[in-house]
Amino acid sequence: MKRIIILGSTGSIGRQVLEVVAKNKTEFKVIGISGYKNTKLLKEQASKFHVQKIADTDTAIIKIAAQKCDLVVNAISGLAGLAPTLAAIRAGNNLAVANKESLVAQGAKIMSLAKKHAVRIIPIDSEHSAISQCLVGRDVKSVKRIILTCSGGPFLGRTKKELAHATVASALNHPTWEMGKKITIDSATLMNKGFEIIEAHHLFGIPYEKIAVLIHPQSIVHGMVEFLDGSLVLQASAPDMRIPIAYALGARWTTQFKQLGTLTFGEVDHLTFEGIKIAVKYRTQGEKLVRVNDSAVEKFLRGEIKFLEIYSYIRKQMRE
Ligand code: NDP
Ligand code: MG
Repeated sequence: MKRIIILGSTGSIGRQVLEVVAKNKTEFKVIGISGYKNTKLLKEQASKFHVQKIADTDTAIIKIAAQKCDLVVNAISGLAGLAPTLAAIRAGNNLAVANKESLVAQGAKIMSLAKKHAVRIIPIDSEHSAISQCLVGRDVKSVKRIILTCSGGPFLGRTKKELAHATVASALNHPTWEMGKKITIDSATLMNKGFEIIEAHHLFGIPYEKIAVLIHPQSIVHGMVEFLDGSLVLQASAPDMRIPIAYALGARWTTQFKQLGTLTFGEVDHLTFEGIKIAVKYRTQGEKLVRVNDSAVEKFLRGEIKFLEIYSYIRKQMRE
């Protein structure tokens, strides 16, 4: 039986991790979970899954992350996931990361610590799960480039003018994925895709110039690897996070494949959606970038800044 710890179990990814665990009861024992504000759900989960250790404060979460186990799943959102990621690795725990912010903030450190402690870092983010699946049995040296797909978010095809008064509700209305609020806004600004480029760079050791993004509104193909011989290997599935979660856990998940339908791939409109450019520009200041973006998203959600002001806010804060 695999003993696992789920950080951020009360969130969108965390709840889906528990769904996967519930379908694979005989293979997993959840020994620790963490939440933050939603203590009611945390307690319900603890009782349903017979979890001994629960945490909802920073220090207690770090302590749980360092508890010896077979796998820690980090599904905390934002920079708060960084300290638990480091604690889990230092304790020698294998780590399945949904919390991309920790990789953006301290990717080089995380990967070198993981090497030192001989722990595996397994991606949950669908694009990175896809890339890791495309690379199975392949030599990274034979990779020409990797391509992350991007739904384009709720505002795909819109102009700057049309986005001037975009509401919070419309930004939260993602066409293909159901996710937590923060990542949903990041998907609308394409900051999420910028973060995913940085995440891919660290996870796969691929230089930035070999990482590309293609707009793919259907969210069926999650990632592709182009090899030097010109062949393209891609991974496709319904946009359902339980699929990459189960893959990361080494668990079974059964679902019907959604009909392929018409699949389209196009270029990113970097003039309207500045997220990718901003993230790549400030990639060496990842921690500050994540912090500034977290605060920009909060301000937007509270109605203190407009949608397009997220970009100017981040640029201004990064320059200071
Ligand atoms: P949610 O907002 O749904 O959940 C976040 C989780 O983190 C909750 O359990 C929350 O607890 C906890 N949390 C929030 N703030 C803190 C804090 N300061 N300290 C400790 N715990 C905290 O987010 P998602 O599940 O959508 O996303 C989680 C991570 O996974 C993010 O990094 C995101 O980028 C990534 N991801 C998500 C995808 C998705 O489909 N949702 C897809 C790919 C990646 P509580 O609710 O109790 O307050
Ligand atoms: Mg993703």
